[in-house]
Amino acid sequence: MEEKKYVTEWANKNLGLTLKITNMVHEEQTPFQHIEIADTLEYGRLLILDGVFQTSVKDEWTYHEMISHVPLMLHPHPERVLIIGGGDGGVAREVCRHHCVTHVDLCDIDGRVIELSKEYFPSISKVLRNPPEKLHVHVGDGIAFARKVKDFYDVIIIDCSDPIGPGEGLFTRDFYKSAFAALRKDGLLVQQTESPIVQQSTVHDVFEAMNDVFPIVRMYYSHVPIYPACLHSFMLASKVYDPLTAEPRDGAPEPMKYYNRHIQKSCFVLPNFIKELLYKG
Ligand code: SAM
Repeated sequence: MEEKKYVTEWANKNLGLTLKITNMVHEEQTPFQHIEIADTLEYGRLLILDGVFQTSVKDEWTYHEMISHVPLMLHPHPERVLIIGGGDGGVAREVCRHHCVTHVDLCDIDGRVIELSKEYFPSISKVLRNPPEKLHVHVGDGIAFARKVKDFYDVIIIDCSDPIGPGEGLFTRDFYKSAFAALRKDGLLVQQTESPIVQQSTVHDVFEAMNDVFPIVRMYYSHVPIYPACLHSFMLASKVYDPLTAEPRDGAPEPMKYYNRHIQKSCFVLPNFIKELLYKG
């Protein structure tokens, strides 16, 4: 294996985030994507798919807590949850902390991400290594998986890669229509939608596409240091509950490193440049 000293994720041809590597742990090409696992000086062990930083041991909670607990605390009684993507297990770990959740399906297209995460990211993948009874792991295309289900889930969490490669179809109106049908009558979904600073077109296009399908669509954000520009967006689409007016339910799992009851509300308060991107773009 070629000795690398640094790894860079390029957000576009002018801007990248570079991390110093102490050890290149693993590298392989699967039928779906190129997987790299590296130990970095700043953020510890890092998962990279097709050159894009996915998760690191030291900052994963900034992403996994926010993509999981915001939708799960907005829904007043979430029981059944579908995670699309999420093969590293970080979202499943957070979802399984909610006692009211009784059934969790996780569907990732690439079984190698699941297996390598179990081997190399034990703290992130702990529920994949020792699955609670309520967790069901499936290897397959999340689009086809969601299409087969009707009126079943309370919450769908789309923890996917970016809209290139195997994740592309997860950013389309057709997929949002299938997800709408797979949700119960008061269900909601959330999807990671990249950076509102350097990937504005994704944020804008997903907002428009979800608005064509769901009555309520709201963007919220977290600060994820390993993603370019740090500010990371999530799009929440809901049939009934509006995060701008609904009170979150009680009983969030404890402890948390990022999420709290105030952040549940404040993460939906958007700076003017994002409001312009969404509402005037
Ligand atoms: N947190 C990461 C981020 O935003 O950079 C994403 C997590 S990573 C585990 C994303 C996962 O989505 C990958 O494991 C990939 O295999 C999976 N994925 C991509 N397209 C998919 C699809 N169509 N169906 C199911 N899983 C998919």
